[in-house]
Amino acid sequence: MSQIYLDNAATTSVRPEVVEEMIKVLTHDFGNPSSTYSIGRHSKALIENARKSIAKHFKVSASEIIFTSCGTEGNNWIIRSAVRDLGIKRIITTKIEHHCTLYAVQQMEKEYGVEVVYLSILPNSEIDYDQLENLLNESEIPTLVSLMHVNNEVGTVLDLDRVAAMCQKNNALFHSDTVQSVGKIEIDLEKTPVDFIVASAHKFHGPKGAGFTFVRKKNALKPLIVGGEQEKGMRAGTEAPHQVVGMAKALELSYQHLEEDSKKITDLRDYCKMSLEQNFPGVKFNGNGSTFYNVLNILLPFSPEKTAMMLFHLDMKGVAVSRGSACQSGSQKPSHVLAEFLKDEDLLKPSLRVSFGHDNSKEEIDFLINVLKNV
Ligand code: PLP
Repeated sequence: MSQIYLDNAATTSVRPEVVEEMIKVLTHDFGNPSSTYSIGRHSKALIENARKSIAKHFKVSASEIIFTSCGTEGNNWIIRSAVRDLGIKRIITTKIEHHCTLYAVQQMEKEYGVEVVYLSILPNSEIDYDQLENLLNESEIPTLVSLMHVNNEVGTVLDLDRVAAMCQKNNALFHSDTVQSVGKIEIDLEKTPVDFIVASAHKFHGPKGAGFTFVRKKNALKPLIVGGEQEKGMRAGTEAPHQVVGMAKALELSYQHLEEDSKKITDLRDYCKMSLEQNFPGVKFNGNGSTFYNVLNILLPFSPEKTAMMLFHLDMKGVAVSRGSACQSGSQKPSHVLAEFLKDEDLLKPSLRVSFGHDNSKEEIDFLINVLKNV
């Protein structure tokens, strides 16, 4: 049975050219980048070239890119160090952030007593921009604004320029979790004054276990992981040249193919939306109607019995999608994202997160619809 993978917000397939590059490095470049002899220096050069290549896409300096193991690490590092080392006393965020941000913020509240303000989420899944502006205007307390660029469950897009301008005007630091947007939309950090962004290679067809963080030069973060001078002392631990080279290659390819891939994915998403509307009268889509082009969060007009069967049925037929919703299988916990803006009655209905990639096809969507019709 072939697999139909429609969960590209969870992770993505690794592009063959990325695998090829990684194998080359694993086979030939095993030197420790900290060693001073030639094979070590060569590994170091691979890492520095990857750093330059990544920095170029965001129009920043290579020294502002720090390699990490994943998005979770990047978000934890920024939030913790901003409080511990940059004197942050208040964090403004939302309850629809990824758990790695939410829990890191809660930790800072517990350990350092920082004030945490959660912005209201409007029924259309967007933040209340006016509330953010008022909060920033009202107080001069050293503040970190931590807001994700693209929400991983619904695809709501934050207006980065608008928030960055508000933060700059009010001397607040701005951290954006860009894990879902890096490689899928251009981000110009020369133009947009965000202080920190975070990325994870496995979300843009690169390897798992590799990520990077952009830290604007003026913000002197201190490391979370100590014990070595790697990454200019910002993140100790022997580097993984194959991971870093694979990540840079994946990012390069993502941006090289951005126009055609984003068009193809948008067409697939629109086709899926139209097919669902034709086949399931009453279907609704969670979010503000202009969510990110690769995600559809679908509210199906199914009975509770059908709901219980839905994911099981999809899995049996080889379709991989996520249940971005009400009750996860085996647990009665609602999605912390949907719970913030859906009405109670809708929260009880089954939601599905379908997220598309460049390797999906219309035939796969037809198959998904057929499986759903037969639940
Ligand atoms: N932030 C967002 C928005 C995500 O979607 C994810 C992964 O699902 C993460 C952070 C965590 O990234 P990683 O899997 O690299 O730890």
